[in-house]
Amino acid sequence: MTNQSPLYRGRFAPSPTGPLHLGSLLAALISYLEARRQGGEWWVRIEDLDPPRTQPGASDAILRSLEAHGLAWHSTVMHQSQRSEAYQKAIEALYNRDLLFWCRCSRKQLTGTQVYPGTCRACRQPRADAAIRFQTPAVEDRFTDLFQGPQQSRLAHDYGDVVIRRRDGLFAYQLAVVVDDIDQGMTDIVRGIDLLSSTFWQRALYRALGHDCPSYAHFPVLVHADQKLSKQNFAPALNNQQAVDNLMQLWHWLGLTIERDTPEYMLAEASAQWSPSSLQTIREIEI
Ligand code: GLU
Repeated sequence: MTNQSPLYRGRFAPSPTGPLHLGSLLAALISYLEARRQGGEWWVRIEDLDPPRTQPGASDAILRSLEAHGLAWHSTVMHQSQRSEAYQKAIEALYNRDLLFWCRCSRKQLTGTQVYPGTCRACRQPRADAAIRFQTPAVEDRFTDLFQGPQQSRLAHDYGDVVIRRRDGLFAYQLAVVVDDIDQGMTDIVRGIDLLSSTFWQRALYRALGHDCPSYAHFPVLVHADQKLSKQNFAPALNNQQAVDNLMQLWHWLGLTIERDTPEYMLAEASAQWSPSSLQTIREIEI
C-alpha cells in the first residue's frame, strides 16, 4: 500500500474495546482540530489487534459516534485485524537486519524488572512458543513534542528491548502502530500522554524499518476525581442523541467559546479558534 502524504496527515486510532466515552471523543476531537488547523487530512484506524479485548460491535459503534458528532474522516477506515501480512513482512525486514531475538522469559521471571534485562538476546533464530523482541539500539534519542516540549531518552537503558510479537502469536501494538502509520503516510501523531512512553520504541522501529519519524503531540488525559477517565473505570458510553451537548462539554474543557449549533458548524468554528498552545505543558485536564 502506498499513500502519498500531503503536508499533514493525522489520525484517530481507537481500540474497539467498547464504545466511545467523553474522554475518547476528546482524543478524537483534538487530533481532528489539529489536522484542520494545519489544513491537513484526518483519518480513522480501528486498532482491533487483540481479539480477546475487542468487543463485538464496538468498531461500528465508534464510527457511528464519530459521525453523529460531525467528525468526518478522509479515506477508508483501516482495521488492524486485516493487516497480519504487513506486520509479518516488517518482522522479516527486521529479522534480515538482525534486530530481533526470540524470548521465552515468563512474566514471573521478569517480575520486578522495570527494563527488560536482555536475557534472551543471544537467541537469534525463530522458535515456537517464544515472543519476538526488537533489540532497542543503545543510542540517545530526542524529539520535541508539540504539547509536552523536548523529550529525550537513552533508549536501551531507559526502555529495553520491546516485544513486537507476543508469545501467543499476536502482533504487538508497538509494531502494528508503526507499520500502519508508515503505510498510511501519517505525518503527525496526536494522542494521549499515556502513550508518550511508547514513542521512543516506535521511533526506533521507524528507523529500523528505514523511515523518517513523524511529528508527535501528546495531549493531557481527562481526569475525574483523580482517576483517568477510561472504559476501565466505567466512563459512560456516549449518547449520540446528545451530540451537541457532548460537544458543548468538550469546548468547555478545551477553553473554547463556541455557540450552540449543529456539530458541523461548531466544528468549523472550533477549528478556527483552536490552538495547541492551550494544552501545552499541562498533563491533565480536570473535569
Ligand atoms: N489504539 C491506541 C489506543 O486506543 C492508540 C494508539 C495510537 O494513537 O498510537 O489507546
